[in-house]
Amino acid sequence: MTETALSSAAEPRDRAPKISFVSLGCPKALVDSERIVTHLRSEGYELSKSHAGADVVVVNTCGFLDSAKAESLDAIGRAMAENGRVIVTGCMGAEPGEIADKYPNLLAITRPQAYESVVEAVHAAVPPAHDPYVDLVPPQGVRFTPRHYAYLKISEGCSNRCSFCIIPHLRGDLVSRPAADVLREAEKLVRAGVKELLVISQDTSAYGQDLRYAESQWKDRAVRAKFLDLARELGEFGAWVRLHYVYPYPHVDGVIDLMAQGKILPYLDIPFQHAAPNVLKAMRRPASQEKTIDRIAEWRRSVPDLALRSSFIVGFPGETEEDFRLLLDWLSEAKLDRVGAFRYEAVGGAVANALPGAVPEEVKQERWNRLMAHQQAIAAKLQKARIGRRVPVIVDEVGPTVAKGRTKWDAPEIDGSVHIAAHRPLRPGEIVTVKIEGADAYDLKGTAVG
Ligand code: SF4
Repeated sequence: MTETALSSAAEPRDRAPKISFVSLGCPKALVDSERIVTHLRSEGYELSKSHAGADVVVVNTCGFLDSAKAESLDAIGRAMAENGRVIVTGCMGAEPGEIADKYPNLLAITRPQAYESVVEAVHAAVPPAHDPYVDLVPPQGVRFTPRHYAYLKISEGCSNRCSFCIIPHLRGDLVSRPAADVLREAEKLVRAGVKELLVISQDTSAYGQDLRYAESQWKDRAVRAKFLDLARELGEFGAWVRLHYVYPYPHVDGVIDLMAQGKILPYLDIPFQHAAPNVLKAMRRPASQEKTIDRIAEWRRSVPDLALRSSFIVGFPGETEEDFRLLLDWLSEAKLDRVGAFRYEAVGGAVANALPGAVPEEVKQERWNRLMAHQQAIAAKLQKARIGRRVPVIVDEVGPTVAKGRTKWDAPEIDGSVHIAAHRPLRPGEIVTVKIEGADAYDLKGTAVG
């Protein structure tokens, strides 16, 4: 979980009310923050670079893990100490008792996704400027990510009930946006210069189930609110399209064809979480099946360059040494490009807390170390095989001598980078061909050749 301090690039203006905004948590929470700020900016509010200089501070919290909750409480404490006029929203807002006990003088605590309540609380704390036209929001909204990539949130909530997760309790069941709505936003983003769209939701492959895949009118055609249909349409914008949080439901095979056609990036972020059938069963994971390795092999036959990212939990209640070894063997076979691993943490309110067979902390740590070392060796080999190739790289940051970018196999913030040497100045957002000359388990390096 990360903290993103948000500040405005614009110079402060006389009498415009100022907000300091702290966004904690995952990319999904960042999208919520962007929506709140887009609204407030359209009403003439400014973003302040510091808590001290703001009329009010909004803290968008993350309550997924206890460590994230602690980080959120710290951020609230800092805002209280440096400003004292604080509104709290986000995942922790679903259970306001804990926050109110610790910080009884908050101006307001609002629930996650309750954009209107946050905006109302800001209005009550500091009314909007009289002339909203002085701060017209850009038509594509205000984004906190760099200009050239943007997160595209296609649904809220989740209708699964994984035993370790309280997201459905915090955010409710799946609510998908109509396809035309998502496509309108994507078009605006691409028109505003976005070169990469990162599709996110809690369960991207379940998109549209709640709408019974209803059609909506987009340009001259009706588009179903269906994962495959949406991915196909997004592929038409000419931007890189990257899919996050996909589960291996059977219909995922359809997007592999789109990848083979070069319409969307050869990248799938699938949170497998484990490989041992009894652990997956206890986790109540959606679409968990024993034949996943065969599916992956099939996908790679169609798209040999497919990059797979996943996350895993070690030390889940009841996980035996045998289960854990099965996971290591599975990783050896699956050869995933990127892996994130978490030690199981009992999240308050999660069903899994009541499961028998709690794994001692030192065993969790030891398994985590083994998994990371095991995966590092796999990733290093895969990375090495890329040396000598010429690949398109999107430039994220430019420095005086080298630039930093990413291949199609790497998502921003969570995956690796390419360190690029170039004989000409590069621009952020530019897609350049790079000859790969070196690699470690995470990053690549090379020279721009076109
Ligand atoms: S799929 Fe499972 S882990 Fe993911 S948000 Fe839904 S319930 Fe939580």
